[in-house]
Amino acid sequence: MKSLYFKVGILGSGQLGRMFTQSACNIGIEVSVYSPEKDSPAAKSGAKEYTGEYTNFELLEKFLENQNALSFEFENIPSSTLDFLINYQTKQNIKIYPNPRCVQIAQNRKLEKNFFKEIGLLVTNFFVIESLEDLQKLPKDWKFPSILKTNLFGYDGKGQWKVNSVLDIETILHEQKSFDHILEEIVPFEKEISVIGVRFSNGQIFCYPPAENIHTNHILDISIYPANISESLKQKAIRYTTKLLESLNYVGVLGLEMFVVEDELYCNEFAPRPHNSGHFTMNACRYSQFDMQAFTLLGVVPSFDFSFQPTVMKNIIGESFFQNKQILTNYLYNPNYHIYLYQKAEARKGRKMGHINYLGSFENSKFPIGTDWKV
Ligand code: AMP
Repeated sequence: MKSLYFKVGILGSGQLGRMFTQSACNIGIEVSVYSPEKDSPAAKSGAKEYTGEYTNFELLEKFLENQNALSFEFENIPSSTLDFLINYQTKQNIKIYPNPRCVQIAQNRKLEKNFFKEIGLLVTNFFVIESLEDLQKLPKDWKFPSILKTNLFGYDGKGQWKVNSVLDIETILHEQKSFDHILEEIVPFEKEISVIGVRFSNGQIFCYPPAENIHTNHILDISIYPANISESLKQKAIRYTTKLLESLNYVGVLGLEMFVVEDELYCNEFAPRPHNSGHFTMNACRYSQFDMQAFTLLGVVPSFDFSFQPTVMKNIIGESFFQNKQILTNYLYNPNYHIYLYQKAEARKGRKMGHINYLGSFENSKFPIGTDWKV
């Protein structure tokens, strides 16, 4: 029987797929997720689960046949799968948002940084390394220490090393047995900020004002909304995000991360999906970033509501939060805290297990900085 409801598939089935499922289910969208994982966070919140490798194109095709639209919850999908999707969308009647080409740019630091530069956005000085010989071409005045990053699939500080010399770089490249890297000058930033931007298929754009991000061990720890920066920097951050959305001809939600240096913004990277620093939207305003993702797929442009409440988001990382039940109970007592646990089976070190939104200021939130929680 033909379904009454719109069907959306998501590649990936972690916490972002889960929060999308929760938003989408509320408005009757049927969500299915596809990933190698079983009993995933998204499936536990009601998504139908397809378990398979991203390169199992037969199974992927079966999954796609049942969807009206497809979106992503992460960018580290094999390039051959993205090529398959590009080909598939030309033949079949399915909306794939964002366009897989945007995902290919976002997962590849070289393409991403060159794209930022081409459209006139500032990026930190970088040097492309594709072979050991390239190192001989490194400018003599290159500033060390700097950061060496893998070109593909880096996230949360993984595939990243602080290096003090060419010798350091050579040692790491040999250890990695790969030469596909970029070297970046360290930006002496005052703050890190991000903007969540949304573009609909009719070209309309909506940007949430910037949030300010505090990282611990290279992983997002706390996000404070709104960012404590000047009005002109806020406008610049929104202009940059708008420029990126338009230049990519993007449809969907993205998160653009930037470094603040005096009155300049350096673009670090963008995520072609809802972003961890955008979780404040779940309580700060009428439509969350996940609601927006659903709207872009449905082709519905909501009326934008610009009233936001100051909100602080704190990630729950690793196992400390779970060591004493009283920690959770204390947060549940206070209605200004909104708790989201992702139902991941195991709390490994550095793993994002949940987050808490606090409606109010950072000082009043009393959130600890770092991964240790106390009663
Ligand atoms: P990334 O994986 O590029 O998002 O980097 C993770 C974090 O490392 C960023 O959020 C920054 O805190 C830090 N970082 C990355 N690149 C730079 C850079 N060029 N200069 C200073 N800090 C950086």
